[in-house]
Amino acid sequence: MSSLPQENKTTAGKPSPAATVEAAIFPESEHPIREQQLDREALKVLYRLRDAGFKGYLVGGGVRDLFLGKKPKDFDISTDARPGQLRRLFRNSRTIGRRFRLVQVFFRGNKIIEVSTLRSRSEYEEDGEGELLASNNTFGTLEEDAFRRDLTINSLFYEIEGRTVIDYVGGVEDLNRGIIRMVGDPDQRFSHDPARMLRVVRHAARTGFAVDAATSEALQRHSSELMLCPPSRLRDEILKDLRSGASKLWAEQCMTTPLWLTLFPFYQDYFQAGGKDETSLALLRILGEIDRVYQSSSEEQPVHIEEHFLFAALLLPWASAHFKLPGEERLRGPQFHQCFAALREDIGERFGVPFNIPRMAKERISTLLINLSTLHHAGNGKGYPKWLKKKSYYQECKRLYDLYQLSRGKGTAGISVEDFALPEPKQGEVEVISAVQEASSSSSRGRGGGNPAFSSHKGGIFGLRSRRHS
Ligand code: ATP
Ligand code: MG
Repeated sequence: MSSLPQENKTTAGKPSPAATVEAAIFPESEHPIREQQLDREALKVLYRLRDAGFKGYLVGGGVRDLFLGKKPKDFDISTDARPGQLRRLFRNSRTIGRRFRLVQVFFRGNKIIEVSTLRSRSEYEEDGEGELLASNNTFGTLEEDAFRRDLTINSLFYEIEGRTVIDYVGGVEDLNRGIIRMVGDPDQRFSHDPARMLRVVRHAARTGFAVDAATSEALQRHSSELMLCPPSRLRDEILKDLRSGASKLWAEQCMTTPLWLTLFPFYQDYFQAGGKDETSLALLRILGEIDRVYQSSSEEQPVHIEEHFLFAALLLPWASAHFKLPGEERLRGPQFHQCFAALREDIGERFGVPFNIPRMAKERISTLLINLSTLHHAGNGKGYPKWLKKKSYYQECKRLYDLYQLSRGKGTAGISVEDFALPEPKQGEVEVISAVQEASSSSSRGRGGGNPAFSSHKGGIFGLRSRRHS
């Protein structure tokens, strides 16, 4: 949004001043959250805390989603009880986190409720000197806990005693008006933790809310700092969006900010402002299809798409443009190996390093992408040859190829929920064989130029040897 509502009756996301800020308290008649919407287990935790003389609040995304009439993914609880006290109160619990200790309370059916002690600093903040804060230095009041959070709409507390929503930062008004606004001074908050910029884009995409002007301007100024975040954290943040069921909206939103090319500079050569170019449009079609699969995920049929497949899908339009895949003719022999090696190197440098992608995942991403050529040219209109269909990697490569076709407006089948309604393979079940091994083994078996991308080696070559498929 460009014109912003001015400060509201509370503090409109202002940083916590030394003097205490008065919270706006919204009674049940002025907010839509009803106790029965809370998870039974979350309520149990809240009541146990109350009965033991502590304060307990539903916080963060749970309050936001209930307010918006959505089903929260999880119910996080904050309390004035310290981790040690929590452990004594909940026998079926454990403490996690090195710096910020969080208590996980376990219930039947693998249900976990996370309970954290109110604190004054965010997990990712340092003290002024760049030193990590000791955990006992960070316990805080309710007010401090509100101001250390990211967005005003994520900084609300719901308490069961009076069934009120407690708002220090103007979050209720922002929820009602549809505004994404950083708590406090956005310049400062982004430079302390640049990943917050991704959270702004994520929640703007998911809610369809407009980004407040000051937040949006600060995001433009700080976007180049994003890559200062630890690579693994960036990878996890991106995966969260790819699996959110709103990844297309996320990418569209990201493409309107400098964050997109900061994250994925290799898309630069193909990118036009706002993502109006063919490559971006192709990617958006792919992400829309992935969203469709996640949106049909249910408790009975949960979807799990492995990270290497999601990343291959994310890289597909770039790899296709950059390496001319699938190409005019099927890649064979030395050509195949050269292209595979170049692709693997590029993926390692441009994607593997900035996002700390495990070696195995890089291998699998490259394998999926290079085989676009095989899948594109080996079919004869009626289907694929037997030798290809027998390969263990065939199914997965075919799914990516279907996404490729869909991204070009061809084919409508795409991918289906059933394709991914499988448990993740256990460690050791999947094996990747390198191009070098393949090259030497296929030539030593004297297969000549037959099917150089694949060998008749049982279990497959150049791809994923998954017992699930064999
Ligand atoms: P989701 O529905 O994706 O879980 P969420 O808002 O609950 O959304 P979480 O990552 O679970 O997101 O974080 C829980 C809460 O912790 C947020 O609502 C926010 O209040 C706070 N938070 C998370 N990350 C940050 C951050 N980087 N800086 C400040 N506060 C944060
Ligand atoms: Mg959450």
